[in-house]
Amino acid sequence: MDKIIMTTPLVEMDGDEMTRVLWQMIKDELLSPFIDLKCEYYDLGLKNRNDTDDQVTIDSANATLKYGVAVKCATITPNAARVEEYNLKKMYKSPNGTIRAILNGTVFRTPIIVKGITPCVKNWKEPITIARHAYGDVYQNVEAKLAKGSKAELVITKPDGTKDVKVIHDFDKGAGIVQTMHNMNESVESFARSCFNYALDQKKDLWFGAKDTISKQYDHTFKDIFNDVFESDYKEKFAAENIEYFYSLIDDIVARIMKSKGGMIWACKNYDGDVMSDMISSAFGSLAMMTSVLVSPTGVYEYEAAHGTVQRHYYKHLKGEETSTNSVATIFAWTGALRKRGELDNIPDLIKFANKLELATKQTIEEGKMTKDLALITALTETVTLNSHDFIVAIRKNLENLI
Ligand code: NAP
Ligand code: MG
Repeated sequence: MDKIIMTTPLVEMDGDEMTRVLWQMIKDELLSPFIDLKCEYYDLGLKNRNDTDDQVTIDSANATLKYGVAVKCATITPNAARVEEYNLKKMYKSPNGTIRAILNGTVFRTPIIVKGITPCVKNWKEPITIARHAYGDVYQNVEAKLAKGSKAELVITKPDGTKDVKVIHDFDKGAGIVQTMHNMNESVESFARSCFNYALDQKKDLWFGAKDTISKQYDHTFKDIFNDVFESDYKEKFAAENIEYFYSLIDDIVARIMKSKGGMIWACKNYDGDVMSDMISSAFGSLAMMTSVLVSPTGVYEYEAAHGTVQRHYYKHLKGEETSTNSVATIFAWTGALRKRGELDNIPDLIKFANKLELATKQTIEEGKMTKDLALITALTETVTLNSHDFIVAIRKNLENLI
């Protein structure tokens, strides 16, 4: 078979640790033999981010705006331990945070369902898609440690130059900490629109929760903007599709989700989405079975796995020990990006290839060939636990049968 030809470059963002190892295996075994890969490569590995003072992250996000589609490998968000481990010039921000701030999009995460892996919440019958607001809040916070005797104040300089000062806390009795955050009405509105559009596209109900009773200005604004956008532009469209928009307090939403059948899109504020997507993905099976796509209001797409760099497995790999790391979400990041590139560039063979690779991946697991994380939870009785590389090779065999 001739290799599939691509016309527009796909923005490729390489990453760190075990996922970087999987990345190369996926390219070598599952992509390069079948596609004449046309990628604009950005190395977001921590060493190169440090060498470029993190400019590479900004460049990769701008390239995504230019070409429209990116695929990203998991990356390390440095903490104090990483600064030491990699001898970093500084504690760089989360690359995902930087990219999300530039694309101003919404992240949709949906579990990959395969036969034999049943959700541990027994009433969940359909996937729950998490829509994570990808701008602001704690991810662009300003925070400080304060010594005893300090006073923290919020100063707002109004358009006319006058100042409004609110005391946050007087630390006269002891040292403490302070944190401020912000959001933009425009960003919340485009988040709301992305969610309503995606709900219409998927014909699924949309749920949204915030803490508007406690946070009467901040969270209440989220609630109001969602409500206004829904009432003015989406109410009739939702009625026509027989789907629902449902708002409630975040704690009520969490309780209802646990008792639901699933099948809804759950819009979450930035932090809620970060945390809840890990809960949803592990409850549906494994962190490694969660797809993730960042969709900007202008229709730019960045695909990635929802999990991190799987550091613990990487250290085993470095010691020469065998690993059984699940590559499914990273494979689906590639298939998502290649399918979207195929749609935008009108390359049916690329779309078909992406579908076949997803099918081959699911088939492999359903035949009982899987990585350790899935072998531990599967309902299938006859299973073979494969190492990281052999699992990818098993997928390739199924893929070759489909092509
Ligand atoms: P993690 O990489 O998601 O891994 C946490 C644990 O989940 C692993 O130790 C492993 O459990 C299991 N796991 C996750 N993905 C797996 C896979 N593909 N196959 C098998 N098991 C998997 O999270 P972390 O260890 O907290 O974070 C490591 C690094 O990733 C950090 O530096 C963090 O900054 C970064 N991170 C990046 C992203 C991103 O780029 N999108 C997201 C989150 C975290 P067992 O050890 O029990 O096998
Ligand atoms: Mg998270």
